[in-house]
Amino acid sequence: MRFFNTYSRRLEEFQPRDPAGRKIDIYTCGPTVYSRAHIGNFRAYVFEDLLQRHLELRGYRVHRVTNITDVDDKTIRGAREAKIPLRKFTEQFKQAFFEDIEKLRIKRADEFPAATDQRYIDRMIEMISTLISRGLAYQAEDKSVYFRINKFPDYGKLAHFDLTQLQSTGRVKHDEYDKEHIGDFALWKAWDEEDGEVGWESPWGRGRPGWHIECSAMATALLGEQIDIHCGGVDNIFPHHEAEIAQSEGVTGKKFVRYWLHCAHLLVDGQKMSKSLGNFYTLPDKSLGNFYTLPHVLEKGYTGREIRYALMRVHYRAPLNFTWDGMNEARESLGRIDDWLARLRETAAEKIDKEKNMTQPGQQFEEALDDDLNISAALGFLFESIRKTNRAMDRGELDSASANSWLNWWERVNSVLSLPAGVQLRASLDMKGERQAVQIPAEIAELVRQREEARLAKDFRKSDELRNGLNARGWEVRDTKGGQKLTRRAGA
Ligand SMILES: [Zn+2]
Repeated sequence: MRFFNTYSRRLEEFQPRDPAGRKIDIYTCGPTVYSRAHIGNFRAYVFEDLLQRHLELRGYRVHRVTNITDVDDKTIRGAREAKIPLRKFTEQFKQAFFEDIEKLRIKRADEFPAATDQRYIDRMIEMISTLISRGLAYQAEDKSVYFRINKFPDYGKLAHFDLTQLQSTGRVKHDEYDKEHIGDFALWKAWDEEDGEVGWESPWGRGRPGWHIECSAMATALLGEQIDIHCGGVDNIFPHHEAEIAQSEGVTGKKFVRYWLHCAHLLVDGQKMSKSLGNFYTLPDKSLGNFYTLPHVLEKGYTGREIRYALMRVHYRAPLNFTWDGMNEARESLGRIDDWLARLRETAAEKIDKEKNMTQPGQQFEEALDDDLNISAALGFLFESIRKTNRAMDRGELDSASANSWLNWWERVNSVLSLPAGVQLRASLDMKGERQAVQIPAEIAELVRQREEARLAKDFRKSDELRNGLNARGWEVRDTKGGQKLTRRAGA
């Protein structure tokens, strides 16, 4: 297995630190909970989920930590404007984040440490003290503490960023701070009026941590001094991850991360998705703050699995252009998978015994993912297999045993893709004895999807409730070998 390491800018053979080669530690930068996350954020989280699931399919045991940034300029400003305490303000977006990742079937991390947890604040203070004692940090006249980048020769290596230009200008006058170097970043921010009630006591006075030290403290506290894989979006490379390396290695003296993996941008209609660029706010929507959030896309009638698929289907290092056409393509692709699975199940049940002339499923799907998580190649192989087996079924040449082995293969593939069992998007409509294919409304499809999940979880009470709900809306649902079959009652 190999991955593209941002640090070396090369594809590298993956070797875990664990001598037995099975256990892997992953740290992924999580959300700053000052607003609902937008789908650009979720592209990175879906990529990280794909990475974890593939490693698990390959037999690794993954321990993942994802931090929650619940104190920074934006959260403090948000709480002040909403006139509620910081904790109360961030809690709603924390909950929203957990709801959203569940909808996208993103595995929960083993730990979700929050920056404001006193345990981690203590750890941050401890790390900053060590950095000061080693000459790697200093308290400036504004009372804040900064990392001294000139004392850390590797600074800029991750971003491949040339600091000489900045250095040549020497001491730079800065409007706000008395920093020695313009690139020095804050480890501890001295309290000011805008912070209100937010602040912690420290050897340097009351204040709050900088964003970068949060991740160094939580990563090393929960995963140890060295970790296997650290992920994030390309936006995180500089200065955030660069700073994480400087802080962590400045304290431990050991290489912090073996493999740095970064996910490319999500574009919306060809433009970079960013609040600062304005396209986030200027597009018309009834609730501006909610634009391109998960609820917004769900409101348009798309399901969580369609969004997951749309975010996952492009290689993580290539920019992904989010468009409604793309969402429809995702829906179509999933429909093809659903139809294929339904046909395979019928064929498997029919007990067709024929001379085996079908290619059996191989390892190509996994092997494509072994190659720097090449999802495009992996999906290409999936759809090629679908075409091939469909043709064989058209000709009645697929025997039941082969159909079964393809179904088993799908189970393996789907442990990575994690697309819930499909709802047949076309239902038979019985009206005046006529059977017609009808499109199922998104609301009904969503109920059927939830029922599928309840059935998988063996939550039969919930599954019955959902059946009743569907009934009340005029849809009857039958459980068959091929999954749930829906019929719309005449006149409903
Ligand atoms: Zn981080």
